[in-house]
Amino acid sequence: MFSHGFISPSRSSNHLHRHLNVSNISSPVNIAKRSFELAGNFVYFPIVSQIMKESKPGHTELQRLQSKIIRCKRCPRLVSWREKVAEEKVARYNDWEYWGKPIPSFGDPDARLLLVGLAPAAHGGNRTGRMFTGDRSGDWLYRALYKFGFANQPQSISTDDGLQLMDCYITATARCAPPQNKLLPEEIRNCRPYLLKELQLLKNIRVIVALGKIGFDTIFDSFRTLEITSLPRRPAFGHGGEYTLNDRQTLIASFHPSQQNTFTGKLTEKMFDAVFRRARKLLDSNDSSK
Ligand code: SF4
Repeated sequence: MFSHGFISPSRSSNHLHRHLNVSNISSPVNIAKRSFELAGNFVYFPIVSQIMKESKPGHTELQRLQSKIIRCKRCPRLVSWREKVAEEKVARYNDWEYWGKPIPSFGDPDARLLLVGLAPAAHGGNRTGRMFTGDRSGDWLYRALYKFGFANQPQSISTDDGLQLMDCYITATARCAPPQNKLLPEEIRNCRPYLLKELQLLKNIRVIVALGKIGFDTIFDSFRTLEITSLPRRPAFGHGGEYTLNDRQTLIASFHPSQQNTFTGKLTEKMFDAVFRRARKLLDSNDSSK
């Protein structure tokens, strides 16, 4: 039923049923939803479990923030689209119960590498409930992260696939899937406070990789808002561009690994790898200069 080596929902859910001792839940996403429903104001669900592995104060705040994000309905157009897509689905994912809500960030709360994307894909993140999970962009991204030691595996299929990020945290310009992958300016503005809060809570970030021009502009504008960059104006976006934001943090620009870029050859694997090779080198040199 699933191509590209996808785990079928029934196989995944059987595993989780045994693990969590639940009997009336039919997919990994349902388990996430059920945990969300049961937990009231303080949410526990598998999607943010990586955030919860320790209980430092900053981690708890990040966890609370993600819990707030998944309830957000600030953008009527996006709320209606994400729910419509989740209801109608596409034939190849007809057996899935789509997540259909805002996507929380994913990764290591002590990370030094931060990735900023655009927004979830309608049948990727909006289906699986995790950033860059279950679509072609994610195939590219996690393969690169794995190659350079930021992920424990190259595949990202579903929330129960065992993927862990190491020293890496993934966030987005907006948390809800937009029609035609295009956000309106007010939707970018609506979602900005969540990113600003994350930037304040993620204390160890040294390198930021912006995936696409919108992510790039979003990061630069956010740093300006927080008054944590000395760059006077927004730099021009170009793949591989590198900018010193302040005395601790560097921004690297990358084309987004969207099919539009990867199918046309605008972004090749070699070009994408070069970005993460550079990120790794910057982090390693930061280590050795201590
Ligand atoms: S895009 Fe952001 S602000 Fe808009 S509804 Fe989704 S989570 Fe809320």
